[in-house]
Amino acid sequence: MTQKFRVFATSDIGESIELLRRRGYEVEVYPKPQSPPKSLIVEKVKSGIDGLITTLRDPIDAEVFEAGKGTLKVVAQMAVGFDNINRADANRYKIPFTNTADVLTEATAEFAFFMMGALARKLWTAEHLTRENKWDYWHPFLPFLGDEVTGKTVAVIGTGRIGLAMIKKCAGFDMNILCYDPAYQNHEYVKAIQETMDLRQARGICKDKNWIKYVSLEEALAQADFVSVHVPLLREGESATPTYHLFNERTLRSMKPTAFLVNTSRGPVVDEAALAKALRENWIAGAALDVYEKEPLPKDSPLRDPAIEERCRLYPHVASAGRITRLSTDPNKGMAGRTVQGLIDVLEGNYGGDVTKMPYVVNKEAFGK
Ligand code: NAD
Repeated sequence: MTQKFRVFATSDIGESIELLRRRGYEVEVYPKPQSPPKSLIVEKVKSGIDGLITTLRDPIDAEVFEAGKGTLKVVAQMAVGFDNINRADANRYKIPFTNTADVLTEATAEFAFFMMGALARKLWTAEHLTRENKWDYWHPFLPFLGDEVTGKTVAVIGTGRIGLAMIKKCAGFDMNILCYDPAYQNHEYVKAIQETMDLRQARGICKDKNWIKYVSLEEALAQADFVSVHVPLLREGESATPTYHLFNERTLRSMKPTAFLVNTSRGPVVDEAALAKALRENWIAGAALDVYEKEPLPKDSPLRDPAIEERCRLYPHVASAGRITRLSTDPNKGMAGRTVQGLIDVLEGNYGGDVTKMPYVVNKEAFGK
């Protein structure tokens, strides 16, 4: 029989909670849809729980780890991004934390692709026109035209898991692809995409020959019709190439005035005040955002300015919100399943209890021999 572990989940993650209970775990779930106050998380950790299930809304730092000194064994985060968890603090307290990489890659990339299409072809405006009975005639160019995605050039900023999946989807729409990533470049993948592009043209599936290549950030921004961002949030001091406000007045001005920005990464990667200005002053054609500097998006955000409404699509952090992706109990399919498996691995000492061998643990560096 499994030892009776105590777990606090800051959010309901569905059927996977029952999976833990069936294993004999005592699991308390915060019942509200909002995140619990930090003081409650600290209180629960202090009460001696073994495992903490978190979402990206929960700030997890030294205060939490200190409260769990000697008792807290793992933090299992239901997200691939973990910028809410202070990695240095986790390492100092030697608490492993897990994430849910891979299982949300395709869902997030497809949503980024849909955002790009919705923005360029003005789906929101088009539906409003129809619903509000403002569709009075068919006309060659009135009341508006959109921009095609097919055949255009997309810059993929960050070619990790989601960036590569975005590349695959863009290639399917006969797009040319500019890749930028200062830390990880997958030339094999890019070569394989080029080969499929060449084959599609050779076999008559595509009329034009498409291309893909790694370039500098400057080149990517200057040449792209669409810029899609797939980087982690890395603040000053956390990386040689931080991503905080990577999109600012300078970089936004270096995009084409006809170009569109799509962000499904993390809000603080884009300076929202600069973006609102860029849209108001037509430095760029439009933007679609799934993530914000502050979430939920504040009522007085400059991004809500009615003057830019037609060119600024706003979504409520749902890029990974597919039914299977979010809630499947299968750790190879669902974020919930993977969260729970990461927790179980640490608490039940899978992989011979060697944290460095556990696939979902992020901060392995704290446990090296
Ligand atoms: P990943 O670690 O596989 O890829 C991130 C890539 O960004 C890496 O290759 C890294 O080298 C690169 N990078 C780092 N700094 C960079 C910089 N300055 N410029 C360009 N590239 C840089 O991560 P992933 O699984 O692809 O996820 C990416 C991010 O997407 C996550 O960290 C998360 O914040 C976000 N995300 C959001 C949602 C959503 O619902 N909106 C869902 C999933 C992931």
